[in-house]
Amino acid sequence: MHVPWRLVSSWHCEACGVCCTRYKVRLRAYEYLKLKSTGLVEEKAGRFFIKKIGNSCPFQIGNLCSLGNSKPIACKIYPFSILKKGDELASFEFEGKEFFVYVDDFCKNVKIKRDARPSQIVAREISEAIEILLGKRIDMEFLTAKLSRGTQELRQPHRHRSKV
Ligand code: SF4
Ligand code: SF4
Repeated sequence: MHVPWRLVSSWHCEACGVCCTRYKVRLRAYEYLKLKSTGLVEEKAGRFFIKKIGNSCPFQIGNLCSLGNSKPIACKIYPFSILKKGDELASFEFEGKEFFVYVDDFCKNVKIKRDARPSQIVAREISEAIEILLGKRIDMEFLTAKLSRGTQELRQPHRHRSKV
């Protein structure tokens, strides 16, 4: 279920990797072109996706994503969906523009509340997601799990690790 952001009190990612097994990730055209040589992406009726191999995303290694900061925008901003239209409870203002933000409560760390007072923690995460969506940044500070140093190295694509 996708819940308007004002009904969410908090969320954090613990890198369980479960969301990577649930969805077939939709790509933007430039993301598809960037990943085409891997043979792990596909085009269907003018839409672009990461192929599913069994139930898994082929870029997942253990629980983590081997694409790191190059992962698709849809993955970077998950569990948030940022739309042009929506309910009043989903309305979010960023740099003078109105967006409509929903949160996928499939992630067990999305905590729902009853009142509609905005959570500043969630608002900070949404601001980062909108910056990523608008191409103002590529890295994730709040929209990712806080991993140990050893685990962070695993997040990097193999080709980077082999150069170190
Ligand atoms: S967003 Fe949620 S489901 Fe996905 S890896 Fe993080 S904690 Fe797990
Ligand atoms: S590209 Fe990375 S973050 Fe996205 S579904 Fe695959 S493993 Fe998960």
